[in-house]
Amino acid sequence: MDLYEYQARDLFESHGVPVLRGLLARTPEEAHAAASALGGGTVVVKAQVKVGGRGKAGGVKLARSPEEAEARAREILGLDIKGHIVHSVMVAEGADIAEEYYFSVLLDRAHRNYLAMCSLEGGMDIETLAEEKPEALIKVPIDPRSGLDAAKADEIVSLTGFAEADRDEIARVITLLGKAYAESDATLVEVNPLVKTGDGRILALDGKVSLDENAAFRHPEWADLRDDSLDDPLEIRARERHLNYVKLDGQVGVIGNGAGLVMSTLDVVAYAGRRLPGHPKAANFLDIGGGANAQVMADGLDIILSDPQVTVVFVNVFGGITACSEVAKGIREALKQLGNRATKPIVVRLDGNAVTVGRAMLEEYAHPLVTMVDTMDGAATKAAELASAAMGPEGHALHDRLHHGEQAPDAACEGEN
Ligand code: GDP
Ligand code: MN
Repeated sequence: MDLYEYQARDLFESHGVPVLRGLLARTPEEAHAAASALGGGTVVVKAQVKVGGRGKAGGVKLARSPEEAEARAREILGLDIKGHIVHSVMVAEGADIAEEYYFSVLLDRAHRNYLAMCSLEGGMDIETLAEEKPEALIKVPIDPRSGLDAAKADEIVSLTGFAEADRDEIARVITLLGKAYAESDATLVEVNPLVKTGDGRILALDGKVSLDENAAFRHPEWADLRDDSLDDPLEIRARERHLNYVKLDGQVGVIGNGAGLVMSTLDVVAYAGRRLPGHPKAANFLDIGGGANAQVMADGLDIILSDPQVTVVFVNVFGGITACSEVAKGIREALKQLGNRATKPIVVRLDGNAVTVGRAMLEEYAHPLVTMVDTMDGAATKAAELASAAMGPEGHALHDRLHHGEQAPDAACEGEN
């Protein structure tokens, strides 16, 4: 889970990392009030979107009074920054920046370590820096058992080459950031820029934090951080029913058991669709897991059938622990529960444990919407053909215009932190 900058700011503050005061505002009027609450002086109005490069995109602006803050917020709210619409801004105290540095600590899975990165050249996009001036970005592996302790922090600041006079304070701030990283089960804490102000203070001016969802069970406080407004409504419904569902943008609703099988199902559907008019693709990822019962199948079908983009459903089950007879029962129960809400063709491929019984049950049921196909490739082709046919000539033309015509507008955007 990625945090908004204002949430990262709050997290830093709670760990003693020096930050400036900042308040969230959802309207220009709230921005006015926030700027007044911060003393009425110079503030920075910052778009709260989970994407970097807000500064370059016009999402970070200085304001010298509450009136100006209101005007800047009016400009920034509603902006589209690389496909992210700005729904809120943070009004933060303005900093008098003398120097901008870069610091991050992240989980380095490949080396089973943490990795700290630091540079005297902050503010700019870190990928660009790493590419164009790799010598300006120092990298220090950190053993998770000792963490980012004082000795490591000293090593980082001297390798980076901070001025002698600033080293102690920067090392102190870096240690606090390392502590925030470890204690909040983060996989990334990035500060860009970490600044030195005109009066010599070190401040974390922009924060990017990713938390490890696997640790959610020991962080009840994370419930407040989750932001449903970002998620697809179908994903929210699926989460409420504990389904492993991800909305995609194709037309074939996919249900399978096991993440690996579902992933390869998305691939075979796309592969079958490539040769067909309109190039149909999967509309979602949905893994009902092992031992799924009729209720889980019904919930899954219900979610998928409520997706207006879906024109055909592909149920792909390889019975392992789950017997195909149970799956057949599930499909039957699901269709009974859904009644006339089930309106789209369902292509079913069953194989594995108790396949003969399972297939026989569905054959006997003989539901008009259900077609059984014996192989995964065959079923994917059938589903893709139905989806392609459902698109009609209009859908095909639209697809051709989108994918073979002009470039999408956001293709021109450049990355920047
Ligand atoms: P990003 O572009 O999304 O990474 O947003 P940042 O929060 O990093 O802001 C971008 C740039 O705006 C920073 O690198 C600073 O140069 C500038 N900036 C941000 N806050 C302040 C501030 O309080 N005062 C001044 N003078 N500049 C700021
Ligand atoms: Mn930044």
